[in-house]
Amino acid sequence: MPELPLRPPFTLRARLLSPRQDGSVLHEPDGLVEVDASGRLARVGAWRDSDGHASVVDLRPLVVMPGMVDLHVHLPQLPNAGLGAGLDLLTWLETHIFPLEGAYDRARADIEAPAAFRALAAAGTTTVVAYAALWADSTDAAFAAAEAHGIRAVIGKVMMDRGSYDRAIDQRRILETSLAQSDELASRWHGRDSGRLRYAFTPRFAVSCTADMLRESAGLAVHHGAYWQSHLSEDRGELEQVAALFPEATDYLDVYDRAGALGPRSILAHAVHLSPREVGRIVESDARVVHCPASNLFLASGMMPLAAYRAAGMRIGLGSDVAAGPELSLFSVMRAGAVTQRALAATAAAPPDGIVDPLGWLRTATLDGARVLGIDGDTGSLETGKEADLIAVDPRLTAPLPGAGTPADPEDLVSRLIFRPHPDMVRAAWVRGRLLAGPPGVDGIG
Ligand SMILES: [Zn+2]
Repeated sequence: MPELPLRPPFTLRARLLSPRQDGSVLHEPDGLVEVDASGRLARVGAWRDSDGHASVVDLRPLVVMPGMVDLHVHLPQLPNAGLGAGLDLLTWLETHIFPLEGAYDRARADIEAPAAFRALAAAGTTTVVAYAALWADSTDAAFAAAEAHGIRAVIGKVMMDRGSYDRAIDQRRILETSLAQSDELASRWHGRDSGRLRYAFTPRFAVSCTADMLRESAGLAVHHGAYWQSHLSEDRGELEQVAALFPEATDYLDVYDRAGALGPRSILAHAVHLSPREVGRIVESDARVVHCPASNLFLASGMMPLAAYRAAGMRIGLGSDVAAGPELSLFSVMRAGAVTQRALAATAAAPPDGIVDPLGWLRTATLDGARVLGIDGDTGSLETGKEADLIAVDPRLTAPLPGAGTPADPEDLVSRLIFRPHPDMVRAAWVRGRLLAGPPGVDGIG
Protein backbone atom coordinates (compact mmCIF):
# COMPACT_ATOMS: atom_id res chain seq x y z
CA MET A 1 0.00 0.00 0.00
CA PRO A 2 1.25 3.53 -0.75
CA GLU A 3 1.85 6.34 1.74
CA LEU A 4 -1.36 8.02 2.89
CA PRO A 5 -1.60 11.71 1.97
CA LEU A 6 -1.21 13.94 5.03
CA ARG A 7 -2.79 17.09 3.63
CA PRO A 8 -4.44 18.40 0.47
CA PRO A 9 -4.20 18.45 -2.46
CA PHE A 10 -4.29 14.75 -3.34
CA THR A 11 -6.10 12.22 -5.49
CA LEU A 12 -7.30 8.79 -4.34
CA ARG A 13 -8.26 5.77 -6.40
CA ALA A 14 -10.57 3.39 -4.49
CA ARG A 15 -14.01 1.84 -4.37
CA LEU A 16 -16.41 4.68 -3.48
CA LEU A 17 -19.66 4.50 -1.56
CA SER A 18 -21.73 7.43 -0.33
CA PRO A 19 -25.27 8.73 0.02
CA ARG A 20 -26.02 11.77 -2.12
CA GLN A 21 -28.04 14.89 -1.30
CA ASP A 22 -30.64 14.04 -3.96
CA GLY A 23 -31.48 10.75 -2.22
CA SER A 24 -29.50 8.50 -4.55
CA VAL A 25 -26.40 6.46 -3.71
CA LEU A 26 -22.96 6.82 -5.21
CA HIS A 27 -21.25 3.47 -5.79
CA GLU A 28 -18.14 3.32 -7.94
CA PRO A 29 -16.36 -0.07 -7.83
CA ASP A 30 -13.31 1.72 -9.27
CA GLY A 31 -13.54 5.39 -8.45
CA LEU A 32 -11.55 8.57 -8.05
CA VAL A 33 -11.64 11.29 -5.40
CA GLU A 34 -9.75 14.48 -6.12
CA VAL A 35 -9.16 16.83 -3.18
CA ASP A 36 -8.08 20.37 -4.04
CA ALA A 37 -5.59 22.53 -2.16
CA SER A 38 -8.35 24.04 0.01
CA GLY A 39 -9.42 20.56 1.20
CA ARG A 40 -12.59 20.40 -0.90
CA LEU A 41 -13.72 17.64 -3.23
CA ALA A 42 -12.91 18.81 -6.73
CA ARG A 43 -13.98 15.58 -8.44
CA VAL A 44 -15.78 12.41 -7.36
CA GLY A 45 -16.61 9.70 -9.86
CA ALA A 46 -15.50 6.76 -11.93
CA TRP A 47 -11.83 6.15 -12.57
CA ARG A 48 -10.80 6.64 -16.16
CA ASP A 49 -7.56 5.28 -17.57
CA SER A 50 -6.76 8.79 -18.76
CA ASP A 51 -6.65 9.74 -15.03
CA GLY A 52 -3.54 7.64 -14.55
CA HIS A 53 -0.60 9.66 -13.31
CA ALA A 54 2.09 9.19 -10.74
CA SER A 55 0.57 11.26 -7.95
CA VAL A 56 -2.62 9.18 -7.58
CA VAL A 57 -2.74 7.21 -4.32
CA ASP A 58 -4.20 3.81 -5.13
CA LEU A 59 -6.09 2.48 -2.08
CA ARG A 60 -7.91 -0.38 -3.78
CA PRO A 61 -9.47 -2.63 -2.50
CA LEU A 62 -10.27 -0.20 0.32
CA VAL A 63 -13.61 1.61 0.27
CA VAL A 64 -13.64 5.40 0.60
CA MET A 65 -16.77 6.71 2.29
CA PRO A 66 -17.87 9.92 4.02
CA GLY A 67 -16.78 10.10 7.67
CA MET A 68 -19.32 9.25 10.34
CA VAL A 69 -21.20 12.02 12.20
CA ASP A 70 -21.57 11.03 15.87
CA LEU A 71 -24.07 13.44 17.41
CA HIS A 72 -23.80 12.38 21.05
CA VAL A 73 -20.69 11.48 23.08
CA HIS A 74 -19.69 12.23 26.69
CA LEU A 75 -15.92 12.80 26.69
CA PRO A 76 -15.36 12.38 30.46
CA GLN A 77 -17.26 9.08 30.51
CA LEU A 78 -15.08 7.15 28.06
CA PRO A 79 -13.04 5.29 30.72
CA ASN A 80 -16.22 3.61 32.02
CA ALA A 81 -17.57 2.45 28.64
CA GLY A 82 -19.06 -1.01 28.94
CA LEU A 83 -19.41 -0.84 32.73
CA GLY A 84 -22.67 -0.93 34.68
CA ALA A 85 -24.62 -3.30 32.48
CA GLY A 86 -28.02 -4.08 33.99
CA LEU A 87 -28.49 -0.71 35.70
CA ASP A 88 -31.13 1.89 34.86
CA LEU A 89 -30.22 5.43 33.80
CA LEU A 90 -30.57 7.28 37.11
CA THR A 91 -28.76 4.59 39.16
CA TRP A 92 -26.01 4.30 36.53
CA LEU A 93 -25.50 8.08 36.59
CA GLU A 94 -25.03 8.08 40.38
CA THR A 95 -22.78 5.01 40.60
CA HIS A 96 -20.74 5.01 37.38
CA ILE A 97 -20.85 8.50 35.92
CA PHE A 98 -21.06 11.47 38.26
CA PRO A 99 -17.92 10.48 40.25
CA LEU A 100 -16.00 9.99 37.00
CA GLU A 101 -17.24 13.22 35.42
CA GLY A 102 -16.52 15.15 38.60
CA ALA A 103 -12.87 14.10 38.37
CA TYR A 104 -12.53 15.31 34.74
CA ASP A 105 -10.22 18.17 35.60
CA ARG A 106 -7.85 19.95 33.24
CA ALA A 107 -5.01 17.48 33.86
CA ARG A 108 -7.23 14.53 32.94
CA ALA A 109 -8.67 16.30 29.89
CA ASP A 110 -5.18 17.17 28.65
CA ILE A 111 -4.47 13.44 28.46
CA GLU A 112 -7.86 11.92 27.72
CA ALA A 113 -9.34 14.38 25.21
CA PRO A 114 -6.57 13.90 22.61
CA ALA A 115 -6.91 10.13 23.11
CA ALA A 116 -10.68 10.39 22.71
CA PHE A 117 -10.41 12.20 19.38
CA ARG A 118 -7.89 9.63 18.14
CA ALA A 119 -10.30 6.86 19.20
CA LEU A 120 -13.20 8.59 17.45
CA ALA A 121 -11.19 8.89 14.23
CA ALA A 122 -10.20 5.23 14.53
CA ALA A 123 -13.90 4.41 14.72
CA GLY A 124 -14.46 6.37 11.50
CA THR A 125 -15.98 9.48 13.06
CA THR A 126 -14.95 12.77 11.47
CA THR A 127 -17.64 14.97 13.08
CA VAL A 128 -18.47 14.65 16.78
CA VAL A 129 -20.90 16.41 19.10
CA ALA A 130 -19.66 16.04 22.66
CA TYR A 131 -20.54 16.86 26.23
CA ALA A 132 -17.58 17.76 28.43
CA ALA A 133 -17.95 17.94 32.25
CA LEU A 134 -19.11 20.77 34.51
CA TRP A 135 -15.67 22.34 34.54
CA ALA A 136 -14.81 25.23 32.23
CA ASP A 137 -11.06 24.51 32.23
CA SER A 138 -11.39 20.89 31.10
CA THR A 139 -13.93 21.94 28.44
CA ASP A 140 -11.35 24.43 27.21
CA ALA A 141 -8.76 21.65 27.14
CA ALA A 142 -11.13 19.45 25.11
CA PHE A 143 -11.55 22.21 22.53
CA ALA A 144 -7.79 22.73 22.35
CA ALA A 145 -7.35 18.99 21.78
CA ALA A 146 -9.94 18.97 18.98
CA GLU A 147 -8.30 22.00 17.40
CA ALA A 148 -4.92 20.27 17.37
CA HIS A 149 -6.25 16.88 16.27
CA GLY A 150 -8.20 18.12 13.26
CA ILE A 151 -11.58 16.47 13.92
CA ARG A 152 -14.75 18.51 13.30
CA ALA A 153 -16.26 19.03 16.75
CA VAL A 154 -19.16 20.61 18.58
CA ILE A 155 -18.50 20.65 22.34
CA GLY A 156 -20.21 22.10 25.39
CA LYS A 157 -19.59 22.48 29.09
CA VAL A 158 -22.26 20.58 31.02
CA MET A 159 -24.63 22.85 32.98
CA MET A 160 -26.40 21.65 36.14
CA ASP A 161 -27.94 23.81 38.84
CA ARG A 162 -29.82 21.01 40.56
CA GLY A 163 -28.34 17.77 41.94
CA SER A 164 -24.91 18.87 40.72
CA TYR A 165 -21.76 16.89 41.41
CA ASP A 166 -20.04 20.21 42.07
CA ARG A 167 -20.29 20.08 45.89
CA ALA A 168 -18.01 23.08 46.44
CA ILE A 169 -19.97 25.80 44.70
CA ASP A 170 -22.32 28.14 46.55
CA GLN A 171 -25.89 27.24 45.51
CA ARG A 172 -26.76 30.94 45.15
CA ARG A 173 -24.03 31.45 42.55
CA ILE A 174 -24.32 28.23 40.60
CA LEU A 175 -26.63 29.59 37.87
CA GLU A 176 -24.71 32.77 37.12
CA THR A 177 -21.36 30.97 37.27
CA SER A 178 -22.43 28.28 34.82
CA LEU A 179 -23.91 30.83 32.41
CA ALA A 180 -20.86 33.12 32.57
CA GLN A 181 -18.41 30.25 32.00
CA SER A 182 -20.43 28.87 29.09
CA ASP A 183 -20.74 32.34 27.57
CA GLU A 184 -16.99 32.79 27.76
CA LEU A 185 -16.26 29.37 26.23
CA ALA A 186 -18.66 30.07 23.36
CA SER A 187 -16.98 33.43 22.73
CA ARG A 188 -13.59 31.74 22.57
CA TRP A 189 -14.41 28.63 20.53
CA HIS A 190 -17.65 28.93 18.54
CA GLY A 191 -16.74 29.15 14.85
CA ARG A 192 -12.99 28.59 15.37
CA ASP A 193 -11.00 27.42 12.31
CA SER A 194 -13.65 28.60 9.81
CA GLY A 195 -16.41 26.75 11.64
CA ARG A 196 -14.65 23.42 12.20
CA LEU A 197 -15.15 23.92 15.96
CA ARG A 198 -18.50 25.03 17.33
CA TYR A 199 -20.08 25.51 20.72
CA ALA A 200 -23.18 23.87 22.16
CA PHE A 201 -24.79 25.23 25.30
CA THR A 202 -25.30 22.03 27.25
CA PRO A 203 -27.81 21.91 30.11
CA ARG A 204 -27.59 18.22 31.02
CA PHE A 205 -31.32 17.42 31.16
CA ALA A 206 -34.46 18.71 32.82
CA VAL A 207 -33.83 16.69 36.00
CA SER A 208 -30.62 18.59 36.75
CA CYS A 209 -31.63 22.06 35.55
CA THR A 210 -34.04 24.70 36.77
CA ALA A 211 -36.36 26.52 34.39
CA ASP A 212 -34.05 29.54 34.75
CA MET A 213 -31.02 27.53 33.61
CA LEU A 214 -32.88 26.14 30.61
CA ARG A 215 -34.23 29.54 29.55
CA GLU A 216 -30.99 31.49 30.06
CA SER A 217 -28.86 28.87 28.28
CA ALA A 218 -31.27 28.86 25.32
CA GLY A 219 -31.02 32.65 25.15
CA LEU A 220 -27.23 32.52 25.12
CA ALA A 221 -27.26 29.91 22.34
CA VAL A 222 -29.39 32.23 20.19
CA HIS A 223 -27.12 35.16 21.03
CA HIS A 224 -24.01 33.27 19.86
CA GLY A 225 -25.68 31.49 16.94
CA ALA A 226 -24.51 28.31 18.68
CA TYR A 227 -26.20 24.97 19.31
CA TRP A 228 -28.24 24.03 22.38
CA GLN A 229 -28.13 20.37 23.38
CA SER A 230 -29.74 18.27 26.07
CA HIS A 231 -31.29 14.87 26.76
CA LEU A 232 -35.00 14.26 26.21
CA SER A 233 -37.31 11.45 27.24
CA GLU A 234 -34.72 8.71 27.62
CA ASP A 235 -35.94 6.60 30.55
CA ARG A 236 -39.26 6.10 32.33
CA GLY A 237 -37.83 6.89 35.77
CA GLU A 238 -36.49 10.14 34.35
CA LEU A 239 -39.92 10.99 32.89
CA GLU A 240 -41.50 10.62 36.35
CA GLN A 241 -38.93 12.95 37.90
CA VAL A 242 -39.41 15.57 35.20
CA ALA A 243 -43.18 15.47 35.65
CA ALA A 244 -42.74 16.00 39.41
CA LEU A 245 -40.19 18.83 38.99
CA PHE A 246 -42.14 20.71 36.30
CA PRO A 247 -45.84 20.21 37.13
CA GLU A 248 -46.79 23.19 34.96
CA ALA A 249 -45.41 21.54 31.80
CA THR A 250 -47.71 19.57 29.50
CA ASP A 251 -45.03 16.91 28.97
CA TYR A 252 -41.23 16.55 28.91
CA LEU A 253 -40.74 18.41 25.64
CA ASP A 254 -42.87 21.28 26.94
CA VAL A 255 -40.25 21.92 29.66
CA TYR A 256 -37.76 22.84 26.91
CA ASP A 257 -40.41 24.57 24.81
CA ARG A 258 -41.33 26.88 27.69
CA ALA A 259 -37.63 27.75 27.98
CA GLY A 260 -37.61 28.87 24.33
CA ALA A 261 -35.09 26.12 23.59
CA LEU A 262 -36.63 24.46 20.53
CA GLY A 263 -35.40 25.30 17.04
CA PRO A 264 -33.13 24.13 14.23
CA ARG A 265 -30.02 24.46 16.40
CA SER A 266 -31.50 22.34 19.22
CA ILE A 267 -30.04 18.83 19.48
CA LEU A 268 -32.14 16.49 21.61
CA ALA A 269 -30.67 13.09 22.45
CA HIS A 270 -32.75 9.92 22.82
CA ALA A 271 -36.40 11.05 22.53
CA VAL A 272 -37.51 7.45 23.00
CA HIS A 273 -40.86 7.88 24.77
CA LEU A 274 -42.60 10.73 22.95
CA SER A 275 -46.31 11.40 22.81
CA PRO A 276 -47.89 12.24 19.43
CA ARG A 277 -48.07 15.85 20.62
CA GLU A 278 -44.33 15.90 21.30
CA VAL A 279 -43.54 14.33 17.93
CA GLY A 280 -45.63 16.97 16.19
CA ARG A 281 -44.10 19.81 18.16
CA ILE A 282 -40.51 18.66 17.46
CA VAL A 283 -41.27 18.60 13.73
CA GLU A 284 -43.07 21.96 13.90
CA SER A 285 -40.21 23.63 15.79
CA ASP A 286 -37.60 22.01 13.52
CA ALA A 287 -35.64 20.75 16.55
CA ARG A 288 -33.22 17.91 15.82
CA VAL A 289 -33.12 14.44 17.38
CA VAL A 290 -30.25 12.04 18.06
CA HIS A 291 -31.03 8.35 18.01
CA CYS A 292 -28.73 6.39 20.37
CA PRO A 293 -29.92 2.78 20.03
CA ALA A 294 -26.86 1.07 21.57
CA SER A 295 -27.24 3.21 24.68
CA ASN A 296 -31.00 2.69 24.78
CA LEU A 297 -30.51 -1.09 24.78
CA PHE A 298 -27.62 -0.99 27.30
CA LEU A 299 -29.66 0.92 29.90
CA ALA A 300 -32.98 -0.68 28.88
CA SER A 301 -34.30 2.81 28.27
CA GLY A 302 -36.58 1.80 25.43
CA MET A 303 -36.83 1.34 21.67
CA MET A 304 -37.34 4.39 19.48
CA PRO A 305 -40.22 4.02 16.98
CA LEU A 306 -37.91 5.32 14.27
CA ALA A 307 -40.19 4.62 11.30
CA ALA A 308 -43.05 6.60 12.83
CA TYR A 309 -40.77 9.52 13.71
CA ARG A 310 -39.37 9.54 10.18
CA ALA A 311 -42.83 9.42 8.68
CA ALA A 312 -43.76 12.45 10.79
CA GLY A 313 -40.85 14.35 9.24
CA MET A 314 -38.43 14.41 12.18
CA ARG A 315 -34.76 15.10 11.42
CA ILE A 316 -32.76 12.32 13.04
CA GLY A 317 -29.08 11.38 13.19
CA LEU A 318 -27.11 8.85 15.22
CA GLY A 319 -25.15 9.03 18.46
CA SER A 320 -22.94 6.52 20.23
CA ASP A 321 -23.71 8.08 23.63
CA VAL A 322 -20.57 6.59 25.11
CA ALA A 323 -20.44 5.66 27.96
CA ALA A 324 -24.12 4.61 28.11
CA GLY A 325 -23.39 3.24 24.68
CA PRO A 326 -20.50 0.80 25.00
CA GLU A 327 -18.67 1.60 21.72
CA LEU A 328 -17.65 4.71 19.78
CA SER A 329 -18.11 3.00 16.42
CA LEU A 330 -21.21 4.23 14.61
CA PHE A 331 -21.09 0.96 12.66
CA SER A 332 -21.85 -0.79 15.97
CA VAL A 333 -24.54 1.81 16.67
CA MET A 334 -26.11 1.12 13.26
CA ARG A 335 -26.19 -2.57 14.15
CA ALA A 336 -27.93 -1.83 17.46
CA GLY A 337 -30.38 0.39 15.59
CA ALA A 338 -31.10 -2.25 12.99
CA VAL A 339 -31.60 -4.90 15.68
CA THR A 340 -33.93 -2.58 17.59
CA GLN A 341 -36.07 -1.93 14.53
CA ARG A 342 -36.17 -5.66 13.73
CA ALA A 343 -37.26 -6.38 17.30
CA LEU A 344 -40.00 -3.75 17.06
CA ALA A 345 -41.16 -5.23 13.77
CA ALA A 346 -41.18 -8.74 15.23
CA THR A 347 -43.30 -7.74 18.22
CA ALA A 348 -45.67 -5.28 16.53
CA ALA A 349 -49.17 -6.36 15.54
CA ALA A 350 -48.59 -4.55 12.24
CA PRO A 351 -44.89 -4.15 11.40
CA PRO A 352 -44.11 -0.47 10.80
CA ASP A 353 -43.35 0.75 7.31
CA GLY A 354 -39.98 2.20 6.50
CA ILE A 355 -37.67 -0.26 8.26
CA VAL A 356 -34.24 1.04 7.47
CA ASP A 357 -32.01 -0.95 5.10
CA PRO A 358 -28.18 -0.97 5.34
CA LEU A 359 -27.69 1.91 2.89
CA GLY A 360 -30.36 3.81 4.79
CA TRP A 361 -28.41 3.33 8.02
CA LEU A 362 -25.26 4.58 6.31
CA ARG A 363 -27.16 7.70 5.23
CA THR A 364 -28.45 8.18 8.80
CA ALA A 365 -24.90 7.94 10.20
CA THR A 366 -23.42 10.41 7.70
CA LEU A 367 -25.51 12.80 5.62
CA ASP A 368 -28.50 12.86 7.98
CA GLY A 369 -26.14 13.64 10.88
CA ALA A 370 -24.70 16.55 8.91
CA ARG A 371 -28.28 17.72 8.21
CA VAL A 372 -29.08 17.62 11.93
CA LEU A 373 -26.22 20.06 12.41
CA GLY A 374 -27.12 22.14 9.35
CA ILE A 375 -23.67 21.50 7.83
CA ASP A 376 -24.70 19.17 5.01
CA GLY A 377 -23.47 21.76 2.52
CA ASP A 378 -19.96 21.10 3.83
CA THR A 379 -19.84 17.45 4.88
CA GLY A 380 -21.73 14.15 5.15
CA SER A 381 -21.29 12.79 1.62
CA LEU A 382 -18.79 12.45 -1.21
CA GLU A 383 -20.02 15.20 -3.52
CA THR A 384 -18.12 17.79 -5.49
CA GLY A 385 -17.71 21.07 -3.63
CA LYS A 386 -17.97 19.59 -0.14
CA GLU A 387 -15.06 19.45 2.26
CA ALA A 388 -13.04 16.24 2.13
CA ASP A 389 -14.20 14.49 5.32
CA LEU A 390 -13.37 10.93 4.31
CA ILE A 391 -12.63 7.51 5.69
CA ALA A 392 -10.94 4.55 4.02
CA VAL A 393 -12.32 1.19 5.16
CA ASP A 394 -10.82 -2.27 4.56
CA PRO A 395 -13.84 -4.54 4.03
CA ARG A 396 -11.67 -7.66 3.93
CA LEU A 397 -11.45 -7.53 7.73
CA THR A 398 -15.19 -8.13 7.97
CA ALA A 399 -15.11 -11.40 6.01
CA PRO A 400 -16.58 -14.35 7.94
CA LEU A 401 -13.74 -16.58 6.77
CA PRO A 402 -10.26 -15.57 5.57
CA GLY A 403 -10.40 -14.87 1.85
CA ALA A 404 -14.19 -15.16 1.76
CA GLY A 405 -14.34 -12.15 -0.49
CA THR A 406 -16.03 -8.77 -0.38
CA PRO A 407 -19.61 -8.33 -1.59
CA ALA A 408 -19.87 -6.55 -4.94
CA ASP A 409 -23.37 -5.29 -4.17
CA PRO A 410 -23.27 -2.02 -2.17
CA GLU A 411 -26.22 -2.99 0.05
CA ASP A 412 -24.47 -6.26 0.96
CA LEU A 413 -21.17 -4.46 1.52
CA VAL A 414 -22.71 -2.05 4.04
CA SER A 415 -24.63 -4.89 5.67
CA ARG A 416 -21.27 -6.59 6.33
CA LEU A 417 -19.72 -3.41 7.72
CA ILE A 418 -22.69 -2.92 10.06
CA PHE A 419 -23.18 -6.49 11.26
CA ARG A 420 -19.53 -7.57 11.33
CA PRO A 421 -17.60 -4.39 12.12
CA HIS A 422 -13.90 -4.96 12.84
CA PRO A 423 -12.11 -2.59 15.25
CA ASP A 424 -9.29 -2.01 12.73
CA MET A 425 -11.35 -1.77 9.54
CA VAL A 426 -11.20 2.05 9.36
CA ARG A 427 -7.61 2.46 8.14
CA ALA A 428 -7.58 6.25 7.60
CA ALA A 429 -9.69 9.35 8.19
CA TRP A 430 -9.36 12.89 6.84
CA VAL A 431 -11.13 16.16 7.67
CA ARG A 432 -10.80 18.86 5.01
CA GLY A 433 -8.20 16.59 3.46
CA ARG A 434 -6.02 16.56 6.59
CA LEU A 435 -5.14 13.07 7.82
CA LEU A 436 -6.33 12.48 11.40
CA ALA A 437 -4.30 10.61 14.02
CA GLY A 438 -5.99 7.49 15.34
CA PRO A 439 -6.68 4.96 12.57
CA PRO A 440 -3.91 2.39 12.07
CA GLY A 441 -3.00 3.34 8.48
CA VAL A 442 -2.25 1.09 5.54
CA ASP A 443 1.31 -0.08 6.23
CA GLY A 444 1.56 -3.83 6.02
CA ILE A 445 -1.79 -4.43 4.35
CA GLY A 446 -1.66 -5.66 0.77
ZN1 LIG B 1 -25.99 11.28 26.91
